[in-house]
Amino acid sequence: MPVYLIDQHRASVFGTPISHIDDITLARYHAAIYDGCEFGCDYCTGWSKSMRSLTESVRMMPNIAIRAKEELAVMHRDDVIGLTADSDPYQPAEPTYRRTHHVLQMCVEAQHPVVIMTKSPLVLQDIDLIQQLHHDRFAMVIVTIISHNVDVQSRFEHKSPSTVERLALVRELKKYDIPVGVALQPLIPYVNDTDYALKRLLQMIRDAGADFVYWDYLTIVNSRHYQRINESLVWMGNYPPSYLRDLYGTDNVINRAYRQERNQMLLQLCDSFQLPIRLPFSYFAQRFPVARAVAYLLAQHASRDELMGRDVLATQGRDLAQRVLAGDWPLDLLQKHPSYPVFQPLVGQIPSV
Ligand code: SF4
Repeated sequence: MPVYLIDQHRASVFGTPISHIDDITLARYHAAIYDGCEFGCDYCTGWSKSMRSLTESVRMMPNIAIRAKEELAVMHRDDVIGLTADSDPYQPAEPTYRRTHHVLQMCVEAQHPVVIMTKSPLVLQDIDLIQQLHHDRFAMVIVTIISHNVDVQSRFEHKSPSTVERLALVRELKKYDIPVGVALQPLIPYVNDTDYALKRLLQMIRDAGADFVYWDYLTIVNSRHYQRINESLVWMGNYPPSYLRDLYGTDNVINRAYRQERNQMLLQLCDSFQLPIRLPFSYFAQRFPVARAVAYLLAQHASRDELMGRDVLATQGRDLAQRVLAGDWPLDLLQKHPSYPVFQPLVGQIPSV
């Protein structure tokens, strides 16, 4: 059990905004309500940040509601806040310390859009706030899941709720008519990304009623992290000592050829299950100004291009999305874009068109 500490020195609740469009979460801010995470998943990049254990202490801000209110008052009202970074907002500390609850209350009061990423059914304790926020503005929950296989899941995530509990959470959240995604991350080569494992898990996610799914690969941040992953793999089974070295070399991400092959497989599976790989446009089109919603859509399309190995198109798509977000509206380029029929009905709402 960790030590719970009040962190008097933390400067900000939400931190600084990112400059690129996050087409998965739509978030401009990625905030960690708690510093430290009691779930302590073996693959978590949080292990790399300190010589101390990720689960040794959990720090939290004093007066977080007041600070959140002050920051929300000067924030752009369309910038989505992601409670998504480096610690689970509904880890075991939450029922006692309620830091996430207090921040959410402030977001509801300010009608500020929020996305929550969690592994925990404790999020249901705040379902009234989330539902209210989605009614007034926009709120989404993303549930992270790594495997259908109990051995794999429990080996890497000793303290987190099981996959069955998380799929039940997806089902439960959908009853409240809010957008729900599933993050399939991290994909660990040959551990949870075999054809069978992916097909089985995607089927379960589809059956649970998720609105979309996305995936990301294991990133190895530094030698401490590398060591930890290696130790987990030893516990897992018969992996050769060169396993990570051969796949990652000196990079922190797995080699491109491997990713491309798995991306193709995942895209095929998602298409066959009619499982979108990003939040569908209809879920957010009316919740943001048209230019912003279109920019998100263009960025989503660019990500699909990238997953298909079409890097040039992906770069062009991201540039176009940034231009639209910045207020430019290059109609000739937009009309040629494959997504144009999707957002064409909204074009009349752009003042300059
Ligand atoms: S729940 Fe998320 S933040 Fe917490 S240890 Fe696991 S991966 Fe890291």
